[in-house]
Amino acid sequence: MPPTDPDAEIRLVAFDALRSLVARHGEILPWEVIAEGFQHRGERILFANRARGIFRPKQMTAGALSIKTTVPKAGRVARYDDLAVEGGFVYHFQGTDPDTFDNNALEYSASLDAPMIYFFGVAPARYLVLFPAYAGAIDRTALTCEVVIGSANELATRATTEVLRRRTVVAKPRWEHAILRDRTLSAWDHRCAVCSLSTPALLDASVVWPDGALRGAPEEDNALPLCLLHRDVFDLDLLGIEPVGTIRLARSLTAAVGGGPVLDAALKPFDGARVRWPSVSRPRDEFLLQRFERFARAA
Ligand SMILES: [Zn+2]
Repeated sequence: MPPTDPDAEIRLVAFDALRSLVARHGEILPWEVIAEGFQHRGERILFANRARGIFRPKQMTAGALSIKTTVPKAGRVARYDDLAVEGGFVYHFQGTDPDTFDNNALEYSASLDAPMIYFFGVAPARYLVLFPAYAGAIDRTALTCEVVIGSANELATRATTEVLRRRTVVAKPRWEHAILRDRTLSAWDHRCAVCSLSTPALLDASVVWPDGALRGAPEEDNALPLCLLHRDVFDLDLLGIEPVGTIRLARSLTAAVGGGPVLDAALKPFDGARVRWPSVSRPRDEFLLQRFERFARAA
């Protein structure tokens, strides 16, 4: 039986505040939103510290509230490979001394089985928010701590690490998709590649060539930002995009008569239109071509 966490109340308030932020902004938060912190007993408490990976606010007495990995401004270091492969995430201690203040705070959280927040960097100053995050196995020689992600509905009774490992692995594709969506939308200035709709809640990313993921998960050079309507039409191979950017609709759509205003205004006008590629990132020609050939065969 682990000792009682003296900071349990602050942790619960932090999770409530994060839930509201995620409901408003989605599960990938910009740093400026995280930096606002949260209110507790008339005081502002920080979720994390920009410079440190392991963070315990001064209002807490034991254990860490959050851990964080970052993506540096120049180039991307964090890749999908950093996401949990077989079990939990592998979090690296700070520095080479396992007994610094920060590393001890993390180990103390582990000894308490205390839930934390994991801010997983996906782009400069953008973080996938994972909580409740628990410390799993700690390796003081390798200076690593396994991190598994639990369910917010089970804060009172933590599931076993083995159960949380399995859940973390099962949830991985969902997080990968959230990261892919975030990176693709930001490369395309948050607009649908077909119709330019720019309402964030109505935009998603579609994988162009499902077998094109070389490193296990699709990246922006194999994805298109699409509004929910055009995403579904594209995913069903009723809309194809040639490598030069020409949009083609299946004959079953172009030849349909009396199909209603969505067909007439949101689908048919785009047959023959051109995608405006962004300057920073676009799907590779080979992926577009293979996908277009599949569309042509289906259509
Ligand atoms: Zn669209």
